[in-house]
Amino acid sequence: MKTIGLLGGMSWESTQTYYRLLNQQVGQALGGFHSAKIVLYSVDFADIEARQRQGDWPAMASMLANAAQRLEAAGADGLLIATNTMHKVADEVAAAISLPLLHIAEATADALVRDGVTCVGLLGTRFTMEQAFYRERLEARGIDVVVPDSEQRETVHRIIFEQLCKGIIDPGSKQAYLGIVDALAERGAQGVILGCTEIGMLIKGADTDVALYDTTEIHAAEAVAWALKDEETA
Ligand code: GLU
Repeated sequence: MKTIGLLGGMSWESTQTYYRLLNQQVGQALGGFHSAKIVLYSVDFADIEARQRQGDWPAMASMLANAAQRLEAAGADGLLIATNTMHKVADEVAAAISLPLLHIAEATADALVRDGVTCVGLLGTRFTMEQAFYRERLEARGIDVVVPDSEQRETVHRIIFEQLCKGIIDPGSKQAYLGIVDALAERGAQGVILGCTEIGMLIKGADTDVALYDTTEIHAAEAVAWALKDEETA
């Protein structure tokens, strides 16, 4: 089994989910007492969040590149960046290490292509919804991307930072998100990407008839498949 390098803490709430999913899925695949081999570097999210607001992406690229190098030195065989937003600097991080980086948007695009989805809604931070770095990975695979209108984007972004990254799950926020999912479906989205690793804490597939693509689940499953590629599974 390969060792997964997990670059987390963005926020630690969703890193917990990654840690659980990676271990559960390796256990299911190999049986018995098997669990995932993981090295974790968890940042102080305050250092990242402040720089996101300032738009200082070069500083964040070097912080994450440094953390990724530490994961490589600690024995990781491959790297997961456990946030969609910070994939804005994925190329700079990948260039600083000799490990493969399992890209969250590529894993998500694989799942969409498998399901024949050609038009998808995207929820995430305003960086993920409004900038090109994420959407263009999907468009390159022939998938049209629709994002919420500006007022809805503000709601989605605010709930991520004021609530989900602090572990706060609010029923009113859940209803707001489900309304935005419906609005995206009415605009032609065949499914909606939960393109922020905390959103799965708030809404789940069972809450709506619209197909949801939870990037945390997709990314973790991709990592386990990669880590176990040469193993005999149970
Ligand atoms: N975890 C979030 C994401 O997937 C947001 C936190 C961050 O800005 O990194 O985008």
